[in-house]
Amino acid sequence: MNFRELGLAEKLLEGIDAMGYETATPVQAQVIQPILEGRDIIASAQTGTGKTAAFLLPIIHKMLTQPHSAHHINALIIVPTRELAIQISETMEGLGYFTDVSCIAVYGGGDGSSFTTEKKALSTGVDMVVCTPGRMIAHLNMGYVKMQEVQYLVLDEADRMLDMGFHDDLMKIISFLPKKRQSLLFSATMPQKMRELARKLLNNPAEINIAVSKPPEQILQQAYVVYEPQKIPLIKYVLSNQTYTRVIIFCSKKQNVKQLASELKRAKLSVEEIHSDLLQDKREQVLQDFRNRKLKILVATDILSRGIDIEEIELVINYDVPNDGEDYIHRIGRTARAATSGTAITFISEAEQKKFLQIEELLGKAVDKLPVPENFGPAPAYTPKARFESKRGNGNRPTNKPRQSQTGGNPNRNNPNRGNQNRPIQKYKAAPNNNKKTGED
Ligand code: AMP
Repeated sequence: MNFRELGLAEKLLEGIDAMGYETATPVQAQVIQPILEGRDIIASAQTGTGKTAAFLLPIIHKMLTQPHSAHHINALIIVPTRELAIQISETMEGLGYFTDVSCIAVYGGGDGSSFTTEKKALSTGVDMVVCTPGRMIAHLNMGYVKMQEVQYLVLDEADRMLDMGFHDDLMKIISFLPKKRQSLLFSATMPQKMRELARKLLNNPAEINIAVSKPPEQILQQAYVVYEPQKIPLIKYVLSNQTYTRVIIFCSKKQNVKQLASELKRAKLSVEEIHSDLLQDKREQVLQDFRNRKLKILVATDILSRGIDIEEIELVINYDVPNDGEDYIHRIGRTARAATSGTAITFISEAEQKKFLQIEELLGKAVDKLPVPENFGPAPAYTPKARFESKRGNGNRPTNKPRQSQTGGNPNRNNPNRGNQNRPIQKYKAAPNNNKKTGED
């Protein structure tokens, strides 16, 4: 389906064209029409499916074609992380470039001047606000935010927000909104608590289910079964044996990010770290350098695993096995974005085997286990079920017999160039952040 068939405004079609989008992705094809018709939406869609444009396009179209107040906030988009807030506002600036729809990203970690810029926009009116919950609460507490005329509410990555403990903040923000509004809820997963949230917030929603919580087919998934101390040398080996130009390595803990990044720096690799201890300025700089290809390798906590759209990532490495299958899918979804291909390699220590088995069960298939090169010494066998049973008390530790090697394909797969790197400038931009340290808010 092309965008013209959806009846979108001409100025919006120009923006879509400038972004290089030719046909609507499946989520766009299913979601845009009901939003244009005024329906509430509950959509489960993975990141990388084009869901940002799926909600932005019809909202911008409606702002262009229907009356709305110039002195109030018209659309409120709430997201879990600063990075996602910035990214959505950038997509908004691109798609809305030929329109006069204004947008501001409101997120924590900035200095007094960014707070002042946000305050001005929130109190005098801006068409669209993309915010993280904590920062919006800080503004709401001051009493000047013009929420009375909000017509569109979007909760993006809603499952993530609930996981991060934002339920009460969300409900507080929503209590400031008019009852009569259109609400759109996007979530990668649909656990029971999401259904309950939907029941509270949505009115006879159209239900759209794009994701079956499976990673895109084109990702080549592989794993190394190792002892914990083998991980860092093996990662160095993987990185030095291929000519990757863009790699993300995920670790569950900040300490691991710091340690691994410093080891890789010592090995003279082009690498930086990103986690919530970093100054906001530094976080943005690192992401910028990674986007601009000044930097080849990013070592990150799960901050980056959802929603962040950086194109042409060839390789995602899971330094450790993520805690649940959804996190795994989000992490490896950083590669193979929008129909390109990519590789994801997970390092599984002995203690993580059971967790990985659960992920494989969710995937509905076993991930190829690569043989650990002999010079790294013997590696453990992949025996998650035996480990599970030994924990139950039969006392038999699993054996460390050498594993059968089950190689996958070539990890060095390349991604075709895609998308529009030259994003138009923002029209209403928060002042740059300075060096304040905060958590995710
Ligand atoms: P998202 O799932 O919103 O993070 O989008 C993932 C990527 O797909 C982003 O780089 C978008 O710019 C891109 N994208 C979104 N819609 C389309 C489309 N219709 N055609 C091509 N690329 C798209």
